[in-house]
Parts: sequence; C-alpha cells; structure tokens
Amino acid sequence: METSDDTEVLVVGGGATGVGVARDLAMRGVDVTLTERGGLSAGTTGRSHGVLHSGARYAEADRAGAEECIAENETLREIAGVCVADTGGYFVSLSDDDEAYFERKLAAAREVGIDAEEVSVEAAREAVPGLTDDVTRAMRVPDGVVYPSRLVAATAADAREHGAEIRTHAPVEEIHTADGRVTGATVDGDRVDADAVVNATGAWAGECAALAGVDVAMRPTKGAMVGVDYEGLGPVLNRCRDPADGDIAVPHRGRAVLGTTSVVVDDPDEYDEESWEVERVVDECAEMVPAFADAEIRSTYWGVRPLYEPDETHRGAGSRSADDAATGDERGISREFALLDHDPDGVAGFYSIVGGKLTTHRVMAEATADRVCERLGVDADCRTADAPLVGADDAERVDGFVDEFDARSPADADVVGGEPGDGE
Ligand SMILES: Cc1cc2nc3c(=O)[nH]c(=O)nc-3n(C[C@H](O)[C@H](O)[C@H](O)COP(=O)(O)OP(=O)(O)OC[C@H]3O[C@@H](n4cnc5c(N)ncnc54)[C@H](O)[C@@H]3O)c2cc1C
Repeated sequence: METSDDTEVLVVGGGATGVGVARDLAMRGVDVTLTERGGLSAGTTGRSHGVLHSGARYAEADRAGAEECIAENETLREIAGVCVADTGGYFVSLSDDDEAYFERKLAAAREVGIDAEEVSVEAAREAVPGLTDDVTRAMRVPDGVVYPSRLVAATAADAREHGAEIRTHAPVEEIHTADGRVTGATVDGDRVDADAVVNATGAWAGECAALAGVDVAMRPTKGAMVGVDYEGLGPVLNRCRDPADGDIAVPHRGRAVLGTTSVVVDDPDEYDEESWEVERVVDECAEMVPAFADAEIRSTYWGVRPLYEPDETHRGAGSRSADDAATGDERGISREFALLDHDPDGVAGFYSIVGGKLTTHRVMAEATADRVCERLGVDADCRTADAPLVGADDAERVDGFVDEFDARSPADADVVGGEPGDGE
C-alpha cells in the first residue's frame, strides 16, 4: 500500500553530485532526503577513472573547466582525507606528438594557476618507472587519485550527520506536479511530498526529467577502463596530446588502471562492452609504458559520461555551463556542468544538475544548493569547502560507510577494504 512521507528537498541520484547536494543542503539546515535506485555510486561515479584532475588536461581547450578543477582538487585534498591520494601527475610527449601542443598546455595550465612545471625526461623516468625511452618532454602537474566509493560514502555519511535521510535501492518512479510546480515523487512505491526536487541522475537525467514531463537533452558516451597488474606506477600518467583513446594510466595498489574510450550510446543502461576498446586502451597506454602490453588484465569496466548536449532553450539564468555548443564530436561537448531550472518548462522547484566531473562535484552541488535555497527562502552560506568529511582520516571507518551504503564499485574495488594507508 502506498504510504506518504515528506521532506523539503528530494535529491534523486546517489552519485557524487547527488550526495554532494544532499550534504550541502543539510549543512545549511534544510530538510533533505536523497534517494538512489541502486547502492550509492552505482552509476557513473563508481565507474569513473578516478583521476583527481588538476585541470591540466583541459587547460588549453576549456579554461573555465580547468579553473574549476584546480580549485576543487585543492579543496578535496583538504576535506576528503582517505578518499583521495596525493600521487601527483605527469604529462608526457612522445616523439610523434606535437611539440606545440605541449607548449600550449604548459602555458595555459600556468595561466589558470595550476602548478605545472616542465621537468627533464630523466626526472620523469625516475618518477614513473617503466616510462618509454620515446618520451621527448615531460610536465609535472598536481593530479591525484580519487576513490569514488569512499568519497560518495563519506559525503553521504556527512550529509546524514547533518540530518539528511539517505535511501538506497529506492528508485524514483514518478514525479508529481500541480499548478506549474513540483510537489513530490513516488519513491519505491511510497509518495514523498517535497517543496523542491533535484534531478542528480547524471547520464539518466533525461529519463528522470521525463517523469516530470520535462526534456533534458543528454548525449551519454561510454568509456572503458582496464585494470592491469603493475607495481609502483607512482603518479597519474597522461599522454600530452589532444584527448584520445588510451591516454591516462592511474596508479592503484599493485595495479594501474588504464583508460579510456569515448563512444556515444543511446541508452546508459544498454550498451556493448567491446573487446576492441580494451585492446585499444592497452595498446595506446603501452606506448607510454611498454610493460602494460604484457601485464595481466585483472579487471575491465565501463562508465557512461553524463554529457549534456547544450540547448539554449533549456538554459536557466545562473547556469554555470560553458557556452561552447556540441560540435558533433562527443569529445567537444562541454565537461563543465549545467544547472537547469525547470521553472520555464512549467515545473517550478524542479532542477537538473548535469555534466561536470567527479572532481568538480562539490562546486556543482554548491551551485545547486544556492539555487534551491533561494527558492526556499533559506539564507545560509555554503560550508562544504571548509569542513572535513566525517571519518575522512580513518580508512576503516570510511570503508564501513561504503559497506553500509552498498557503495562498493569497480573503480576502487582493489583499494576499499584494504589496510589503512594501502593505496594512498
Ligand atoms: C569513462 C569515464 C571516466 C571518467 N573519469 C573521470 C575522472 O578520472 N575524473 C573525474 O573527475 N571525472 C571522471 N569522469 C566523470 C565522472 O565520473 C562523472 O562526471 C560523475 O561521476 C557523475 O556523477 P553524478 O553523480 O552526476 O552521476 P552518477 O554517478 O551516474 O549518479 C547518478 C545516479 O542516479 C541514479 N539514478 C538514475 N535514475 C534514478 C532514479 N529514477 N531513481 C533513483 N536514482 C536514479 C543512478 O543509479 C546513479 O547512481 C569519468 C566518466 C567516465 C564515464
């Protein structure tokens, strides 16, 4: 039988963005319920590559995105403890790569305030054992590693500490509206009344918005990751060229996680996991570290990027998304985020937060919470950048949250549950 519950704000989706929104609102004293159809981080967050981006990857092409990355990279290092690892990162050019691109990236990274520095090839080879002899130039950047399951679970636990209710295995099945505004949702058979609903369902944002009769144009792309046996990679390793398949290797405990690809998919729940993607990722990454070619493959997994296909008619005032429209090449779609206020679509109090990155989830949440609080008449500042996540310095405690919220996921299965300090 249908029961009824109520909350001020219902957040749909328990990836990094959704738990970030729940934490932010709860810290401002708002009554918030988050609901996720699976375990937390069951979507893209738990299937990402896990780079805590410095922004250097985007600096020459997307200045605003790079600025957001470096700011959030620094914030997460402060507040997220064992959910991130300060490994550092390198960009390397090989003999076939464009020297001018290296120069452009270095200059652009510095311009946006990223501490990027060219180092000698010898220094890079010392920092990255096994690096190919074919390296011609190398740049050190403050990339790091983020463990998505831990980050999501600790953020959710922190939201709960501040009064949020976190529901898992509870899908939103209907969104209710009346008189041009949202009134709540049906969650796993129960009616939940709400003054505002935040759609933080990432690649599924189109489907969720459709429940309220609203159109959100997403263009999800899948990417493959390959975990191989490799001891001591050290820093995150990036190929210094225009983003392409197989240009990043991420250090994990006794492994390197290689990636990735980018292929448009129609349905984020239904796509082929293709062997050519795995082969291409390994082959390309082996150009940087030849030993990857023969390393034992321990895991393969795919994630789907929540790329928003910008549509000017859906841009509400205050959207923080980039203005560069889709180019038809999925890599050209903005990695920045868009906050969509669906009031002009006839559903006041309903918001979608799409795009962005794991690295920038906190600032996406801040922009969303600002807008929701404005609507609710809540006058409280964002405090999420200043306060550490609950248990942030205690790997065992955070891994306990991971289990409690059923947040274990492929992106960091080899790290979560290890000895404190492992993989960090
Ligand atoms: C291959 C790949 C590699 C990436 N690598 C990086 C990286 O190295 N660094 C980085 O910063 N970013 C990276 N990203 C981007 C990053 O992972 C995403 O931008 C981010 O995780 C998206 O988080 P989200 O919370 O918005 O979406 P998600 O994590 O997908 O969360 C949305 C949630 O909504 C839930 N949901 C859907 N429908 C419903 C419903 N009806 N009811 C309830 N719940 C619902 C889903 O189950 C899901 O858990 C990568 C992405 C991909 C695909």
